[in-house]
Order: sequence, then structure tokens, then C-alpha cells
Amino acid sequence: MAEHRLLTAHVGEEGLDTLTGYERTGGYQALRKTLGMTPEAIIEEVKASGLRGRGGAAFPTGTKWSFLPKDVYPRYLCCNADESEPGCFKDRYLIDKNPHQLIEGLLIAAFALQVHHAFIYIRGEYHDQRLTLERCVEEARAKGYVGKKIMGKDFDCEIIVHGGAGAYICGEETALLSSLEGYRGQPRLKPPFPAIKGLYGQPTVVNNVETLSTLPHIMERGGAWYKTIGCESSAGTRLFCCSGHINRPGVYEMAMGTTIRELLEEECQGMLEGSDLKAFQPGGGSMQVLLPEHLDLPLDFDAVAKAGSSLGAGAMVFMDQTTCMVNVSMRLVDFYHHESCGKCVPCREGTYFESKLMHRLEAGDATLEELSTLEDICDNMNGKCFCPLGDTATWFVMSAYKAFREEFRSHCGAAACPVRHPVVMV
Ligand code: SF4
Repeated sequence: MAEHRLLTAHVGEEGLDTLTGYERTGGYQALRKTLGMTPEAIIEEVKASGLRGRGGAAFPTGTKWSFLPKDVYPRYLCCNADESEPGCFKDRYLIDKNPHQLIEGLLIAAFALQVHHAFIYIRGEYHDQRLTLERCVEEARAKGYVGKKIMGKDFDCEIIVHGGAGAYICGEETALLSSLEGYRGQPRLKPPFPAIKGLYGQPTVVNNVETLSTLPHIMERGGAWYKTIGCESSAGTRLFCCSGHINRPGVYEMAMGTTIRELLEEECQGMLEGSDLKAFQPGGGSMQVLLPEHLDLPLDFDAVAKAGSSLGAGAMVFMDQTTCMVNVSMRLVDFYHHESCGKCVPCREGTYFESKLMHRLEAGDATLEELSTLEDICDNMNGKCFCPLGDTATWFVMSAYKAFREEFRSHCGAAACPVRHPVVMV
């Protein structure tokens, strides 16, 4: 097996989702160690680890933390658990399997940043996970790990678990902060960035569930140790949510630098019988399509970016020869159209026209000329929207159009999808 289990090392052990079970695995010892360090030393340790954010942007975590202005208080910390990327379910897995690991990581970050109020903003549909986290926060509070004088030290921190209302856009950090403040979940203009003016106008750090869950391991064994796992530009391990036409869908924790082929062949146990890989998405619904020739790419943020896509939110969707790329594009465009918050014109109008055209194309009703219209629509959105949602609504469809141009053209005037309903000559 190619898995390198760090965050998932104890998954499957009885009671891991309880405080007692977590402490049995050494849980909360990293927090105890961290509380004996200075905040500056913790930030340096995280910088030395090379940890890059696991939410999608892959920005170095320690550097992000160091953007907070000195001596401006109060500061806030938000855990982004608004996992909604199509194909992505790793944060839910971490919360289900090892929730205290996240809470410990959140407390470590809170101490490093000198934050006294930390929030977990969790996706509205993750109702059970929200209840799990609320229970775990109370367990930790009863043991003196949350609240006043944590572990007897001069450090206070409250944790508030806040459920969203099911909007994908609230995974964008400024929309998340607006929602948390009670406003409509729409993105804010940047700059100012949340590090300067975030929640309630104060310096704020927003970190992903997996990023925070990694911190106890870094603090327990050191940043230099963590950096020995993975590859030069992408340190450590990462959880990948694998789905599609594969034998063993699931969440797998891989050392960065391992190849996508190893993930597919060893962990996912290959494509289904009779299936050949046609294409895959390496980072969830927003990311550009890759082809079988890309299977030997390493799981490395920079290498995948160089190949024209992104590891994004950590979702690998493998598609076989029966998959119609026009159909997949249409479904993804429908998703973004539905989730567009409506704040800016290029996205609000663009996703509407994009969706309408994709439906005509998928049904075989569009003309060849309309493919140019599709390109125009995407061109008027990409890089021209208020937030990344509008850009990403074009990425898959344009990359699929580039890689499968003939498949798109074959739909024009075909009166039906020629991939899913091929014409059989008798
Ligand atoms: Fe809202 Fe879309 Fe504009 Fe983002 S790009 S602000 S989601 S309308």
C-alpha cells in the first residue's frame, strides 16, 4: 500500500472520536508541549515544516500566520469546515474519525496567534459533524483544554462551532466571515485581506480542517521532521478523496510526491473492470481536466499546476470511456450557476448563459457557431469576476473543450448526446 498515514494513523481504533480514545493515542500532548513555547517559536516551527494550506490555495501556513499585524487585538481564528467542493469529503472524514485532532490543532494555532475566540464554521449539511464537534468541545472544556487557564497555563480560548446554511460560496474566506457575522454570505473586496481586517474588522486567520489537524503532528515531532515527508515543494502528507469509476473509492492519505498512478492503482485498486481511464480531475469540480498521460505526475502542488490543473481541495475524480465530457461540464456548470452568490455581473449572468448553452449542447441542439459563444462567455468570466467562483466555473469546461474538442463538436446538431446515446449502424 502506498498510503502514508499520519492524520489517519489511528483511524479505526475504538473510541477515537472521544476524548478518552484520543488521549489514549497521545492526543493533547502536542498542545501541552506547545503551551510551554513562545508563540513566535511555534510560528517558526510551522514555517520550518513547509506546511501549505490544505483547503485549495496551498499557501504556506506559517507565512499566512505571520501576516497578522503586531499588537493589534483582539484577533480571531476561523476553521473553514465549509467543505462543499464537488467530489470532496476529506474534512468530513477527519471530523467523523478524529475530531479531537482538529480541536487540538485549533488550540495550537490559537495559542500561536494569541487568539482567545476561535470559530469552526461548518457546512450546513454536515449536521452530524457539527453535533460531533460540539460534543468534543464540551469534552475538552470539561478536561480544562478549552476555556479559562487552559492546562493551568495563562491562556484562555473559547471555541464556537457555527453551522452554515449550505452555500458553497461560504467556503471563500471573506464570504465565510460575512456569514459568521450574520450577514449574507457574499465575498468582500480584498485588500484588505482578513489578516489585516477580518472578522468584526479585526485581524483574522482562516485555516482549513486538514491544515489544522496537521498541527499536533508538527508540534509533537518538529517542523524539520515533517519536512522530511513528501517532496521539496510540497511537504508532508495529504488526504485525497477518490471517486468515480474505480474499484475502491475512499479517502487515502498519501505522502506528497507519490505519483497519481500509485494512488489510482494501489489505493483505489485501479479502474473498474472493463473501464479505461479517459480523464480525471485532480482537485475537485473546479479544477481543469487531466488525461491518462498525466498519471505519472507527482502529488505535488507545483507539478500539477505546471501541467495546467491544480490539486485544489484534494478530490480525485476518475472517469472512464463511457463518460461524456459535455455532460460532466454541463453538470458542473449547473452547480456553479446554482451556487453563484449573484454579487457580480460576470458570474451571475455568465453562469446563467453558460448553463443554458451547455444544456443545448448536451441535448445535441447547439450549432457549431455556439461553441465560439461558449468560449466568449467563459472568456468574459475568467479573471473578470469578483471572486474565484466565477473563474472556476469556466476552468473545467474550457479545459475539457480543449482536450476533447471533437467530442464537443460531435454534439452540435446531433439531436442527442452521441457519447451516452451512440448511433449504432445496422
Ligand atoms: Fe458572487 Fe460569483 Fe461574483 Fe463570486 S464571482 S462574488 S460567487 S457572483
